[in-house]
Amino acid sequence: MTTSKDAFTKAQVAIPGGVNSPVRAFGAVGGTPRFIRKAQGPYVWDDEGNKYVDLVCTWGPSLLGHAHPEVIEAVREAAKNGLSFGAPTDTETALANAITARVPAAEKVRMVSTGTEATMTAIRLARGYTGRDMIVKFAGCYHGHSDGLLAAAGSGVATQGLPGSAGVPAGTTADTIVLPYNDADALREAFAKYGDKIACVITESSPANMGIVPPVADFNQVIREVTADAGALMIMDEVLTGFRVSGAGFWGWEAGYKPALPATLPEAALEGADARGQWVEEQLKGASYSPDIFTFGKVVGGGMPLAALGARAEMMDYLAPLGPVYQAGTLSGNPLATAAGLKTLQLADQGVYDHVDKVSAQLQQALRDSLEAEGVPYTLNSVGNLFSLFMGQNVAGGVRNYDESKSQDEARYTAFFHSMLDAGVALPPSCFEAWFLSAAHDEEAMNVIFDAIPGAARAAAQAK
Ligand SMILES: *Cc1c(COP(=O)(O)O)cnc(C)c1O
Repeated sequence: MTTSKDAFTKAQVAIPGGVNSPVRAFGAVGGTPRFIRKAQGPYVWDDEGNKYVDLVCTWGPSLLGHAHPEVIEAVREAAKNGLSFGAPTDTETALANAITARVPAAEKVRMVSTGTEATMTAIRLARGYTGRDMIVKFAGCYHGHSDGLLAAAGSGVATQGLPGSAGVPAGTTADTIVLPYNDADALREAFAKYGDKIACVITESSPANMGIVPPVADFNQVIREVTADAGALMIMDEVLTGFRVSGAGFWGWEAGYKPALPATLPEAALEGADARGQWVEEQLKGASYSPDIFTFGKVVGGGMPLAALGARAEMMDYLAPLGPVYQAGTLSGNPLATAAGLKTLQLADQGVYDHVDKVSAQLQQALRDSLEAEGVPYTLNSVGNLFSLFMGQNVAGGVRNYDESKSQDEARYTAFFHSMLDAGVALPPSCFEAWFLSAAHDEEAMNVIFDAIPGAARAAAQAK
């Protein structure tokens, strides 16, 4: 039997930091990352045979729970016919239609392999479409690791973006304006100054990568209005929230668009562009607002490498081969990934969302009860079934931006995290990440979590 410690030592010789994505290395919480051997339902098992209730859910994708038998079967069936063709398939069309049926403004969809590619392409499309160079992003919002979106948070209004990583030329982020999140005045000021040069504003639909920081009442609507007035586009990054917060993502939850699930398109909208356009128009009448471009990832690939962007057809047709904006991918629309994504969306019915909402509310309550019993100062931000905990601070009205998020007491989370891990519950190894639940988190799994929380709250109370 190899221990995770042995495995990590060897991995660090072969792979930088021993991991293929930095947060997995436990740098923020210390200790040894568990090397995972298998996952099923709400559980993961490490190399040593330890079983954990998983609240990472592969960072969001496993909405149905790990290794859902029907998803595995769909992938197995697809694999029998070959792993990749580099040619179009019917499954890609079916998945595109399944996405449009849930999020109508994504009238046409282009598939890529990662969320990073989806946002990178969305930015390029916005620039190509508008003929402008500048983009606006918000401090603390994560949109993947492409150069132009790795701009650090500057202080003050309309700070010119500085690269948040070595290796990103200053010139690349010079066209990125970084603004504080939830600050409508800062947004208006930036547009007053640069409005005719700004191609787009990119925002997480509800930020979830600085902890959960929901938009204040109408912040997304303000972004919509300000961009529309200036002839700029609004990109809503739903890589994390899409098909997780509701059947139509965070957008559907907020804008009041609730498709009956499983969502399907009318026959005419499958075959005729005009009929599809009319159907989309009709659907959007029921929504309070709609962004121009959506990006999806995580759940949409059902655990396989797949992400997508979608917008109205006229805009999407700016992409090659029809338009001048180039984008491509050897493995884009991969047959195994599209099979997993399509099956996942087909199975994610209203019952799935109702269950995730329910267990999320129960978990939030259990956290409040124990943290209060132990006298740990905390702020619990939540929106829909998403939530996260900021320990060591009690922010009236909730954490609203990156600066407030960063002022939490990381040592308390570290103590809480390790106490939970020792009790068989795997939390995200960073206090800046959302916690994820799934349809497979049943009573038995939830009870393991509930039993572990009081001890972890005590550990957090004692942490200095
Ligand atoms: C995860 C994430 C991305 C990046 O997706 P990858 O598949 O990791 O490249 C982009 N945007 C948001 C909001 C995310 O949560």
